[in-house]
Amino acid sequence: MRLTITVLLVKLLVKILRIFKSGGTSLPGKIAAKIYPNILSVISSRIKTVFVTGTNGKTTTVRMITGILKAHDIKYITNKSGANLQSGITTTLLNAMKLNGRFDEEYAVLEVDEAALKTIAPLIKPDYVVVTNFFRDQLDRFGELYTLLSGVKEGLSSCPNTKLILNGDDSFCASIGKDLPNEAYYYGTRIAFGEYKEGSVSDGRFCIYCKAEYLYRHHTYGHLGDFYCPECGFSRSYLLTALSETPVLTDKNTKILLSIGDPDNKENVQTIEGTIPVPGQYNIYNAMAAITLSKVFGFDPKKSVEALAGFEIGFGRMEDIRIGNKTLRMVLVKNVVGFDQALELFISQNKPYPAAMIINDLTADGRDISWLWDVEFEKLGQVQEVVPAFFTSGLRGEDMTVRLKYAGLDMKKVRLIKDYNLLVDKGLAITPENGYFYVFPSYTALLDFRKLLVRRYGIKKFWK
Ligand SMILES: [Zn+2]
Repeated sequence: MRLTITVLLVKLLVKILRIFKSGGTSLPGKIAAKIYPNILSVISSRIKTVFVTGTNGKTTTVRMITGILKAHDIKYITNKSGANLQSGITTTLLNAMKLNGRFDEEYAVLEVDEAALKTIAPLIKPDYVVVTNFFRDQLDRFGELYTLLSGVKEGLSSCPNTKLILNGDDSFCASIGKDLPNEAYYYGTRIAFGEYKEGSVSDGRFCIYCKAEYLYRHHTYGHLGDFYCPECGFSRSYLLTALSETPVLTDKNTKILLSIGDPDNKENVQTIEGTIPVPGQYNIYNAMAAITLSKVFGFDPKKSVEALAGFEIGFGRMEDIRIGNKTLRMVLVKNVVGFDQALELFISQNKPYPAAMIINDLTADGRDISWLWDVEFEKLGQVQEVVPAFFTSGLRGEDMTVRLKYAGLDMKKVRLIKDYNLLVDKGLAITPENGYFYVFPSYTALLDFRKLLVRRYGIKKFWK
């Protein structure tokens, strides 16, 4: 009875909040937890749960997993709009629950904030947890990487039956599988890709067990790659899914060749060709995470890879918005590695496309914007001959301008425009026909900027 009332109340609150055009998803969950404190433990036993956590790639990986489920005609619940803390997850689950306390859906695929996992995992005891990677992210809010990692391990230590899907190329993720008794499955690369530069490993350079410096058989980006410790021997485990040939990266998609193993018979390896319909090196890892999970579900990997080809990018990492015959491409930037990757994508185009960097410093963005000094804006120098303009905007637009100045860019091309309407007009005006206008917003800037696009062009609201 108490459950029915709570479910009813949450559904009602969600409806009311939507009428007032608020995407707010945390309030109903907070109220539910007040009425029924252990509600998460009660509801989670009624549906198969998948958590996706890690610094970068959570949103995209969740969408890839749900794309695969969809292709198999399996119903699922997901927390699309970034409601990835305990209250948002409670709202998502209760809003989907029927009044009889059951779910029509078979799976709940939930993005979980990496700092919140510590408290959420013991409540829900998820069936599967995917960990994408660990990079420095908003240190002022989350504390040190190592604290975060121990928090994740601590949260999972009360879930011995949870199956783990881990990025084998990330020594932090790999250490989770080593330290916990859980069944663990890994994905990673057998070849190098991207342009690794000496000295670019800033996070996780040293062995988590013995502090010796890792060596690499090959690198992809950041600290990711085929690492091993020369002192204690800590290294990657058997990869269930591996990128086995150099991927072909274009501005629209990535062609990959995967070797997919079989945990029961390591001789039995399938080679599958696929296309990820979104660019960016990091999306190769996201795709492999989703495919590895689907293999652990027992799905035919060939069908999962095919399902990814129909994947659509949504609210979150990257979104393309067609305006006439031009495309405004928004790429969320929230930390050093993510911003570097986004710039990498932009530079790899080497086309006369304008770019805008919109930086806010509200709580959700991280109050401290000094991380911008670690982003390699210097490399934009490679394309400044062809790029017509670098716009700066947001509450900290002035700081962004200063950063570009110190990056040595031609200041005649850098323009501060605080008004978003004007920014859209100016940017699109110099975007070539059939070309792209790249916009790199921080989190709250993305929300505001997107609101303006909804008003002006009637694009979908993000919680739909
Ligand atoms: Zn070591």
